[in-house]
Order: sequence, then C-alpha cells, then structure tokens
Amino acid sequence: MGKEKIILTGDRPTGRLHIGHFVGSLRRRVELQDSGLFDKMFVFIADSQALTDNVDNPEKVRQNVIEVALDYLACGLDPAKATIFIQSQIPELCELTFYYMNLVTVSRLQRNPTVKSEIQMRNFETSIPVGFFTYPISQTADITAFRATTVPVGEDQEPMLEQAREIVRRFNYLYGETLVEPEILLPENAACLRLPGTDGKAKMSKSLGNCIYLSDEADDIQKKIMSMYTDPDHLRVQDPGKLEGNTVFTYLDAFSRPEHFELYLPDYPNLDELKAHYQRGGLGDVKVKRFLNSIMQDLLTPIRERRKEFEQDIPSIYEMLQNGCEVARAAAAETLSDVKNAMKINYFDDKDLIEEQVKRFQK
Ligand code: ATP
Ligand code: MG
Repeated sequence: MGKEKIILTGDRPTGRLHIGHFVGSLRRRVELQDSGLFDKMFVFIADSQALTDNVDNPEKVRQNVIEVALDYLACGLDPAKATIFIQSQIPELCELTFYYMNLVTVSRLQRNPTVKSEIQMRNFETSIPVGFFTYPISQTADITAFRATTVPVGEDQEPMLEQAREIVRRFNYLYGETLVEPEILLPENAACLRLPGTDGKAKMSKSLGNCIYLSDEADDIQKKIMSMYTDPDHLRVQDPGKLEGNTVFTYLDAFSRPEHFELYLPDYPNLDELKAHYQRGGLGDVKVKRFLNSIMQDLLTPIRERRKEFEQDIPSIYEMLQNGCEVARAAAAETLSDVKNAMKINYFDDKDLIEEQVKRFQK
C-alpha cells in the first residue's frame, strides 16, 4: 500500500482562526509543509462539518470560509506546496461517509468523549442533529480520502483519530487492505495541546468567545492580555502567586523563547526564574502580562500585516481555493474508486461480472 507520506488537516469555518489553532496545529503544518519530509499536504476548510451545528446560519459559514483561507495564507501555508480546498466541494467525501456509516455502531459514537462534550456545550442533549452526531465518520472520510498518514491536530481531536483508525481497520478486515491507517501528530509542548481561553476556561474556542485571533489589531491584543485570567488570590504584588490554572503563564509556556527574555525582560534569565519569583511573591501580574503582550505582538504583527496584503486580492484567493478543490477531487475520486471496488459496487467497471452472470443464467 501507499508508501507516500501525506498530511491532512482542516478547520471549521465558524470564525477567524485564533492562537489556539496556531499552537495546536497551524504552526506545525507550516513547519511540515516546509520540511520536505512529506510527499503531499492537504488542508481543508470544513464547511460541511460546520453546518452540522450551524444549520440555521449558513451565512456565518459562508463568510468564514474566506476568513480561514486568509488566516492560512497569513501564517505561511503555501498553495504551491499544499492543496487548500473546501470540504463541501468534494462530493466523494459524502459517498465515503455513507459507506463507512455501516462500520460504526451508535453506542460507539455515543462514547466518543469529544462528541459528548460538544453536545453538552451546544445544549443538544435532547435534540442532537444526526449529522452532528455522525461527524466523526465524515471526518474519517476526510482523512482516508486523501490517504493521510499524518494528521497534525490539537488534543481534542484524539478521539476522532482513534475512531478513524477503527473504521480503517474494520474496512480493511472486511474488504481487504484498501485504506491507510492515519497517525495523529500532537503538539510537543504540553501547553499547546489544548490552549485555554483568555477567561481561563479549558479551551480557547471560537464558539466560546474567549479567543485572541490571529488577525486582532494590536490594541485589542493588548486589552485582551491585560484583562486575562491569572491567579484570583494574587491580590497584592508581594503575595505569593500560583501557576496552576494561571493562563498568563500557560501562554508563556506556549509562546516564550529565550530571546524574548533578553529583549524584554533581561532581569530574568529564563521562564523558570520568572515563575519562581511569581511563586515567592513580589512579582505583579501587570509586569508578566506586559511581557506576554510584547511576545504576542512580535508573533502576530507580521501575520496581521501579511493578511492585509492578501485581503487586497480576494478573487485570487477564491481562484486558489477552486484549483485546490479540483486537485482534491481527483485524489478523493481515486480512493472512492478503490473503496467501491473493494465493496463490490463497481458493476460497470468489473469486466468479469457480466461474463459471470451470463454463465450463471445459462445453466
Ligand atoms: P469550534 O468551536 O467551532 O469547534 P474550534 O476553535 O474548536 O472551533 P476547530 O476548527 O474545531 O476550532 O479546530 C481546528 C484545529 O485546531 C483542530 O486541530 C483543533 O485540535 C485545533 N485547536 C482548536 N482549538 C485549540 C486550542 N484551544 N488549543 C489547541 N488546539 C486547538
Ligand atoms: Mg472544535
């Protein structure tokens, strides 16, 4: 089976992308794209999936497709190296989903912890749309259609990848080796696995409104950082402070590098020393937040500026997406054809079939 190394990832067009996406997946994608270690890379905007929980708001999804595309380009995804496409434009994915549905039980989907928590978050308990409930299956179609070997995502996607691997194994067991089993690639830095929101909530998420967006203006970034959640018991500068659950320090874990200390906080040789001082007492939140702000501005200014350049030529971005869809469709069609052959639903391509049937009825 395919020895090619192929990357696939995507994002839901439910909002602009934020720094959680950046550390959870986007930064890694750009590195992998430029590493030369992979044969192909597919990145897609998951509009069909976004519609599973935004069925009443297609306009939101439509508007955010271009926002996500702009964020991709601003971060350095390069259409010359990666195929960027829109999920709904690849009908082969629906066909694959339909066939995979028979390989999964309802109770297995109900046990998926990500689906469980997302159902809770959206207050779907009593009225879960079937499409939403089954989105792990459609995600398996996305991954397998492109024969992805490697899926760089945040920790919340782990159950999805496990589900995909199960479906692949079951398909291959029933119908013969056809699909490629994907591997998840999680961020190396623990703080990036699931970046918390600025409100200290478990996850920065477009749907929770606790985000610093890649495209935020400098003063918005500063305002968000200066009002971030820290240690609620750290009232006076001289008080000892806690690091656990302190979002400012989690962000420093995710974003700070040694050169930031040289540049902006030369009194401290590294993050460990800064943390130790905070825990001892005598270090105020404002100083730490200002330091974080300098780091974030350094990171986000060039991204925002590149985005503004791409915003000057919107038609060419749609053209790039359309080209990406064509390439993606061709790739997905090959896999679909393999799947249909394996499942024996290839009546008009199988030359022996008619011959066989002729003989059967001649008896
Ligand atoms: P929504 O609330 O609409 O689900 P989201 O913010 O969760 O949006 P997705 O489009 O679902 O974003 O996720 C896209 C990718 O970004 C996935 O790989 C996911 O793991 C990663 N990701 C999203 N949020 C975070 C986060 N806070 N920390 C790390 N990775 C994240
Ligand atoms: Mg999500």
